[in-house]
Formats: sequence, structure tokens, C-alpha cells
Amino acid sequence: MDCLFCKIANKQLPSDIVYETKEVLVFKDINPKAETHYLILPKEHIESVMSAGSEKVIEKLIKTAKEIAEKGKIEGFKLVFNVGQKGGQTVPHLHMHFLSGEQMQTELTPEV
Ligand code: AMP
Ligand code: ZN
Repeated sequence: MDCLFCKIANKQLPSDIVYETKEVLVFKDINPKAETHYLILPKEHIESVMSAGSEKVIEKLIKTAKEIAEKGKIEGFKLVFNVGQKGGQTVPHLHMHFLSGEQMQTELTPEV
């Protein structure tokens, strides 16, 4: 399948991997919008939150975020899903942004 994140998940393309299980991959965003900016995704190709057949996969992504925060002693972070092209999703393979920095702002940042 001609999907950027499938290729990264299959190791056909390089990425800066920070965490990996059989089902989930976490790597650094190539164009970080915060001091720490990871992408957390299922290795299985699912297009977006809207096409996820079950919320179990979303649960897995959130659990992974919590583990990363605990391991990295990250006290605060934002989790963002861009959903669909009109929602700002540029890569049509489900992923969750994990964003953290010294002090995140309270307002939503539409650019993320
Ligand atoms: P989205 O706009 O929600 O689809 O997010 C896609 C994200 O993938 C953007 O933040 C990009 O900076 C990031 N990205 C695109 N290509 C790569 C890549 N090869 N390695 C790591 N991150 C990437
Ligand atoms: Zn894919």
C-alpha cells in the first residue's frame, strides 16, 4: 500500500522511533510543533478516527501516551487527532499527536 506511515511502520522508510510494540509505533514528528512532538499510531492501516472500526485502537493509542508520559516523567501534554482533510489531516493513516513542552498554552492551536 502506498501509505507513508505504513512504510514507516514496515521500516521501509526511516524514522526516529521512540517506542514500539507489536501493534503500536511512536516516532518523532519530522516537523515538530512543540519541544516534544511524537506521533503515536497503529501499525495496521486505518485511515482516520472516522474509519476505526472499534474504539479499542484509540484506547491503545491513549494508553501508549500515558506510558510514554510516565516513563519520560512528562507531567503535562496535549493529545491531538486531526480527522479528515478538512480537519487538517495530511497523512491518511490514523495517528495521534503527542505534544509537550515546558509550559503548554491553554488555548487550542488550530495550526497543530
Ligand atoms: P497530520 O497533519 O495530522 O496528518 O499530521 C501529519 C504529521 O506527520 C505532520 O505533523 C508532519 O510533520 C508529520 N510527518 C510527515 N512526514 C513525516 C515523516 N517522514 N516522519 C515523521 N513525521 C512526518
Ligand atoms: Zn497506512
